[in-house]
Amino acid sequence: MATICATPGCGKPAMYATRTKPAYCETCVHTLIDKAGLKPITMFSKPNEFFTTQCKTCGVVADYSFNYVLSKIKIGEPVCRACYWKHWFAQSWDDFGCGQGLAHGLSEEGARYLAHASGYELVQLIPGAVEGEELLLVRCSFCGRQVVETPGDIAWRCTCNRKQHDVSMPVQDRILDHAQEL
Ligand SMILES: [Zn+2]
Ligand SMILES: [Zn+2]
Ligand SMILES: [Zn+2]
Repeated sequence: MATICATPGCGKPAMYATRTKPAYCETCVHTLIDKAGLKPITMFSKPNEFFTTQCKTCGVVADYSFNYVLSKIKIGEPVCRACYWKHWFAQSWDDFGCGQGLAHGLSEEGARYLAHASGYELVQLIPGAVEGEELLLVRCSFCGRQVVETPGDIAWRCTCNRKQHDVSMPVQDRILDHAQEL
């Protein structure tokens, strides 16, 4: 028996099979990706596989899994991490009257250094609303996944090579300090 799409009343065969989570048909997958604010550039065959998308709001191209897309729809959070972090930075100014960005802005060279130190290639330095709120659009040097990272979180590396590296706070801080001097 083929798995049937989890959208109530749809009835079409699901695009993929899962053991535990609901599965959707191709039409509903496209509708859900659209609802999440993204345009698909590539498609996936398994819901935990990364596929390439473009954000309809800010235009940033990044890779997510469909499971991740579904989890963000569920909690009403933008999937696009560039939009998410921009909103997060702005929210801090609204709520606390202060920013959460770096003390110094990141230059292109600083961003490239930071990306390299964390196993990525810099694709684009995304300027922030305020200096120090820059984001990094990077491509993993190992698996090729393209993601948006904050300067503070990039040291955690891509999920494909996270385990074997030292990401202790002193190491992170030293790298981040140096990146801001470049
Ligand atoms: Zn459907
Ligand atoms: Zn966006
Ligand atoms: Zn990777």
